[in-house]
Amino acid sequence: MPRKRFDLRFPPRQAAKPVIYHLVKDYDLTPNILRAQIEPGQQGRMLLELTGRKEAFADGLAFLEREGLTVSEAAADICLDDEKCVVCGLCTAVCKPQALYLDDDFALKFDKDKCVYCEACVIACPRRAITLRF
Ligand code: SF4
Ligand code: SF4
Repeated sequence: MPRKRFDLRFPPRQAAKPVIYHLVKDYDLTPNILRAQIEPGQQGRMLLELTGRKEAFADGLAFLEREGLTVSEAAADICLDDEKCVVCGLCTAVCKPQALYLDDDFALKFDKDKCVYCEACVIACPRRAITLRF
């Protein structure tokens, strides 16, 4: 089944609405919340991974937009530029899910399944060796 990641932005008045529940119940989509910062009365943001039928994506996303959310496709991967990387390890230190790590041979490795696309590594890298790919 197709799986996609979306960046959702909630206006303050919508932050407390149970939109994820409706994606499951009404659109048969399976959500995986990778990252969220939502406070009632304030603008919120969520990185959401959805799995489901192709047609369900369009209907589910249209529902979110009707509810006042702004939806955009999130980064699908990160790119490491081996030419620029000096294997300093700084990116591994800021990567909380440990998606970036140094192996026993001190080679930089990336585990895509653990990445929540927080961009902390992009900011931390002094060599600008990491970019997000959409
Ligand atoms: S911070 Fe940049 S240079 Fe250092 S290991 Fe990570 S990608 Fe390589
Ligand atoms: S985007 Fe965030 S989670 Fe993904 S590798 Fe970089 S620091 Fe780790």
